[in-house]
This record gives sequence, C-alpha cells and structure tokens, in this order.
Amino acid sequence: MIYTILMIKKIIMGNWKMNPESLEEAKKLGDEIRKKIVKTKRTTVVLCPPAVFFNSLKPKIATKNIKYGFQNVHPESSGSFTGEVSARMAKNMKAEYVIVGHSERRLMGETNEIVGKKVSSVIKNGMTAVLCVGEKEIDENAHHLIFVRDQIVKGLSGLKNEDLTKLVIAYEPVFAIGASKPISGHEIHQRNIFIKKILTGLYGKEKAFSVPILYGGSVNSENAKKIVVEGSVDGLLVGRDSLKALNFAEIVKSIDSL
Ligand code: PEP
Repeated sequence: MIYTILMIKKIIMGNWKMNPESLEEAKKLGDEIRKKIVKTKRTTVVLCPPAVFFNSLKPKIATKNIKYGFQNVHPESSGSFTGEVSARMAKNMKAEYVIVGHSERRLMGETNEIVGKKVSSVIKNGMTAVLCVGEKEIDENAHHLIFVRDQIVKGLSGLKNEDLTKLVIAYEPVFAIGASKPISGHEIHQRNIFIKKILTGLYGKEKAFSVPILYGGSVNSENAKKIVVEGSVDGLLVGRDSLKALNFAEIVKSIDSL
C-alpha cells in the first residue's frame, strides 16, 4: 500500500495562561504580536488569551495567519457548572482551537477521562482540540511511556477516524514546562515517533501521520528552530515567551523561515 504523507503547516501556539492582568495589556500584546508577524506566511499562529479577554482580542475580520483559541473548556454543553465555559460558548465566540489537558489543569484534578470528554466536546463543536500529553518524570523501566500512552488512548477514546482532522497533539514533558531548558531534540524526536506509533495503532498510518505533533516546554527564540528541526515536530506550544511580543514574533519568524 502507498501512503501519502502530508506536509503539515507549522503551528506556533501561545498559551498566555492567567496573563496579562488587564484587557489593555492583553490588547497591547495582541496588537504587537500581530504587527511583528504580519509578513509571515507559512506558519499558523494560534493565540490563546484568557477567556475573559477573548472577544475583545479577536479581530472582527479574520486574519489569515493568526487564529485564536481557548485554554480550556468544560466537557458539558450547558448546565449548572459555576464559573465554567463550554465548548459551544467558545465556538460561538469564533474560537478555532482549544487547549485540552494542559498539565496545569491535570494538576487541579483533571483525569484522562475528563480530558477525553473535553476533546470530544471541542471536536463535536467544530473546533480543533490541542491535546496536551507528557510525562512527569522519566524512569528506567519506561513507565513514563505507558503514562503518555494512557493519556493519548484515553484522551482520544471518544473520537472516530474522521475526527482526526480536528486534532493536534502537544507533547510537553511536565518537568520541562517553566524550566530553564527544553529536553534534547533527540528525545523530542523519539517521543514524536512514539506518539505516531500509538496513533498508527489506533487509526492507521495515513491518519496518524496527518495529526500535527507540537512540542512545548521552555521554548524560546534561541532554541525554537533547533527543536523543530531536530525533533521533526510540526510546531510549538509556547508559555512564557508568548507573553513577550518580540520573543514570540522571533520564534514565529524562525519557524516561518524553515
Ligand atoms: C506551557 O506551560 O505549556 C509551556 C510550554 O510553558 P513554558 O514555555 O513557559 O515552558
């Protein structure tokens, strides 16, 4: 059988987390990023501001190379869930991506089962789910691989083959998030292959190789290109440096030039 391996457009996501503190600052950051990357063409940039700023930040007229996403949604479409935001609400606000299962949310008690429901809800509502997976630590008996495998299998348990067009996987080793350096390009490449093997077992090779795999964890403008090239990943999920317009724009430009 001959498989067509698609060239996946690179994706650079900025997860602003619970920052900045005011709408004015958020607008300023968004504007600065937009201006600095106006000439980039080959990369999809996804900004994920806090939900409360989303509507004011997303331009009314769609920009070609910048998309907007939520950092989280509740698995149910509506109901008595104080303080929560549903995937349907995100969709109605014209979000295109939703980060699901970030390690900081898993730390608050989000299980693989909850993450799986969220992934399904995001995709059912027509958006792209960015499923975050990653081990907390590495052990010599490779339990960390079983951990990641479980996150993927359970996170995708509600999906059909055709849903994979709306899926991105962000591999983020937890110990590299907010740290001083990322893991090596070689290790990222190994995990990339590992994730593709799991997806191949679940959905077949062609579908598996069409799912963008991102890396996240201490990405900056100096290491971004090396990570993408050596890790053979389809993009990056950036935390801290997505809050600095200049640094984030440098990351985007360095990947756009590949
Ligand atoms: C993250 O929190 O997903 C992340 C990658 O953070 P940082 O880039 O700051 O390590």
